[in-house]
Amino acid sequence: MIPIQAAIDEYIASTRKEREPRISMSGLGNCMRKLILTERKAKHFDFDARNYRVFAMGFQVEEFVLKSLRAKGIVFKEQEAVEYRGITGTYDAILRDDESDALTLIDVKSVHSMKFNYLNKEGVDKNYAMQLWGYQKALEGKYKLSHIPRIFYVSKDDLRIEDLGVPRSDWGDKVDAKIDEIEKWRASDDLPPEKKERDWECFVCNKKSGTKAWCRYISNCPVMYKEYQDKGGKQ
Ligand code: SF4
Repeated sequence: MIPIQAAIDEYIASTRKEREPRISMSGLGNCMRKLILTERKAKHFDFDARNYRVFAMGFQVEEFVLKSLRAKGIVFKEQEAVEYRGITGTYDAILRDDESDALTLIDVKSVHSMKFNYLNKEGVDKNYAMQLWGYQKALEGKYKLSHIPRIFYVSKDDLRIEDLGVPRSDWGDKVDAKIDEIEKWRASDDLPPEKKERDWECFVCNKKSGTKAWCRYISNCPVMYKEYQDKGGKQ
């Protein structure tokens, strides 16, 4: 039998670049404890081969969407590195409207098609909104952007797209408040408190068994870790 799965996993591992343990735009929606643990290079679990396959698959789908937008000729700028108050990241694209000069920042997120069953009811993921607004704030002084950046959710199963705007409302203020808090904890020797109840900032898988936590720092959170193990979590 040809070991195809192993070949794919090896290929993904060979193309993987380890990231600097620093707080980036994509982390703005993460819990403060995890962000500070990351920066302090705390001991953590490694992702497994399946986790990396999920990331690789998401990247392929997102890149396909960007390719389609390029072919349509509506990409004004893409994948520039940006910085806002010391937090860095690389946004996906700024699109030009066909019929006007309006420029809109977009971020592409690949999801399972089941997500579309409740996306319109629940609205955009809060951590995605934080990331998007981090980019928006970094870019506002540079380009004349629409005040409603957008998240393009794309299904990995059939490339269906749901395009949701994320108006300023209080996301801009939330980004600044989060960076204020990051700066406060950076100046402290203490660790931000562990979450006692899971919320949208805490990336621990809810499934009852057979899964790994998406927060690699979960072993630094005794309450979360116990609850996770009690439900059959593997790490
Ligand atoms: S387990 Fe939850 S509370 Fe603990 S560091 Fe991870 S995200 Fe934060």
